[in-house]
Amino acid sequence: MVASVKAASLGLAVYEQTRSRELFERAERVIPGQKYGGAVICPAGMCGHYSLNAMAPGYPIYFSEARGARFWDVDGNEYVDYMCAYGPMVLGYKNPVIDEAVRKQNEKSNTVTLAAPLMVELAEYLVDLVPIADWAFFSKNGGDATAQSVMVARAATGRKKIVTVADGYHGVAAWMQGPGAPGTVEEDYRNIVTVDWNDVKGLENVVAENPGEIAAFISSPYHHPLFIDNELPAPGYWANVERICRKEGIVIIADDVRAGFRAHMGGSCEYFGFKPDLICFGKALGNGEPIAALVGTDAMRDAVASVFYTGTQFYNASPMAASLATLRELQRIDGPNVMLQTGKKLTDGMVEIAKNHGFDLKVSGMPSMPYLRLTDEDSPIWTEGLEAMHTGLHATWISECTRRGAFFSSVHNHFVSTAHDQADLERTWEIVDEAFKVVKNAR
Ligand code: PMP
Repeated sequence: MVASVKAASLGLAVYEQTRSRELFERAERVIPGQKYGGAVICPAGMCGHYSLNAMAPGYPIYFSEARGARFWDVDGNEYVDYMCAYGPMVLGYKNPVIDEAVRKQNEKSNTVTLAAPLMVELAEYLVDLVPIADWAFFSKNGGDATAQSVMVARAATGRKKIVTVADGYHGVAAWMQGPGAPGTVEEDYRNIVTVDWNDVKGLENVVAENPGEIAAFISSPYHHPLFIDNELPAPGYWANVERICRKEGIVIIADDVRAGFRAHMGGSCEYFGFKPDLICFGKALGNGEPIAALVGTDAMRDAVASVFYTGTQFYNASPMAASLATLRELQRIDGPNVMLQTGKKLTDGMVEIAKNHGFDLKVSGMPSMPYLRLTDEDSPIWTEGLEAMHTGLHATWISECTRRGAFFSSVHNHFVSTAHDQADLERTWEIVDEAFKVVKNAR
């Protein structure tokens, strides 16, 4: 495979992003910026997770269109996209099957005083698809599903405390932000207890220290934090979590918002071999149409019904049409395996190219969501803090790739879709090769 990596043609065009920057100047006046963990990520003009890249050198900020695995920025530059809209794009932008399903539903209407029959169909489909699921509840963002899951666990157990994993992410609700986060109060964290990923002993201790008080253990199926290498479950980890939680009647919540349908169609818990009580899905569930879902076991049915939870847009029919079409299509083409294989092929090639230039590229996490890091130099972000996130060898190499058309992130895991094909990989390898030459020369 790696033999097919083409030798780089020196002098790949470095993109100009004039129009993006012009728009950004206008945005600075009317759109707030973003702080994260107390550090200024973007002073103004871009909020939320999109701000992570806005200040990085060589990054475009606004798109003009997107198709397949590629998007074009407002300056007309073309990128192979390895962020996939931070996960939702799983079958390719403007996938004709999904677009047709949405178009058909839009013809009938999207937001109406009644739910569409599709809601029943989609719930039935998910219940058939996901082994632990006996019911499904739909919402919009992943954070809707995670916030609901915690309420359901508390209702089911009559307990207050929630165990989370350090550096895990479950959305922006106050309890999930971390002590001291602006806009939150101490009381938001009073019932949150944190353990380290893969730390069975730590979980045992926390459970022993809080007898009869813990409602839920919430975690992503594997550890995919920002800024550091991602980690798979250690052998036996989930079996131990299940043993500890089952013994104490603690609800296990799998937050599959990010990894869902990129490992296994039945939920990533099937891939990693465990059985949660509740699973939160989002992102890939609608190939970009806004939809999230909480699914759960029969044992959780009364609890979910007891918790009042809703939203004006929860019943939009078109995202449900997109979701049903997405799940069917992913199943038809064995999407998770396609993405696992494509991700492995992509990063094997990149590691080889790095080696050829004398660099060590570490790939962590699941192959369909690879986290990348050049180990040759520590990330300045670790020693100097978040504001140094766009400096240092790794961030520089990543930005040299991006400004030539392979859109990567130096701080976040990447996403592979089923639309990434051999031509996308070859184009990427060519850019990666050139970017290594550039950083080597600069050293
Ligand atoms: N959980 C995980 C694991 C996530 O990655 C995210 C989003 N990055 C969320 C929850 C929150 O989802 P959303 O941003 O759609 O509310």
